[in-house]
Amino acid sequence: MTSYDKNNIFAKILKGDIPAKTVFEDDQILAFYDIAPKTPIHILVIPKRQYTSFDDFCQTASKAEIDHFFRTLRQIAKDAGLHTRGYRLITNHGDEGGQEVPHFHFHILGGKPMGPLVASGG
Ligand code: 5GP
Repeated sequence: MTSYDKNNIFAKILKGDIPAKTVFEDDQILAFYDIAPKTPIHILVIPKRQYTSFDDFCQTASKAEIDHFFRTLRQIAKDAGLHTRGYRLITNHGDEGGQEVPHFHFHILGGKPMGPLVASGG
């Protein structure tokens, strides 16, 4: 993956140039509702620092940042009421992973049975 694109859509949300419906925010993390929800509850969770993808985050972020990110991700899903019902976490890395926005993010998907892991086999 190429270097961080400072004009990507999530960078603009972080700068406040584009509005988003915030679910959670602290000094390191922003969570907001996906603009085109694929499930009744569809939350995007992003670090505020500039990481292009999961791969970049895991390679570059400190252990403390990674720990805080995943514990917060879990808490956001819990606060959305999904921990007892169940939910799906997705992060897409790169072209074949289907990543559209080149700022690392996790999708929290829930509110209905998720069905198969991927749309088609092969
Ligand atoms: P990706 O395919 O990169 O894993 O997911 C990107 C997600 O960002 C998609 O689910 C898409 O609907 C969402 N998205 C794209 N543009 C915006 C936007 O301007 N606002 C919000 N809230 N979500 C967006």
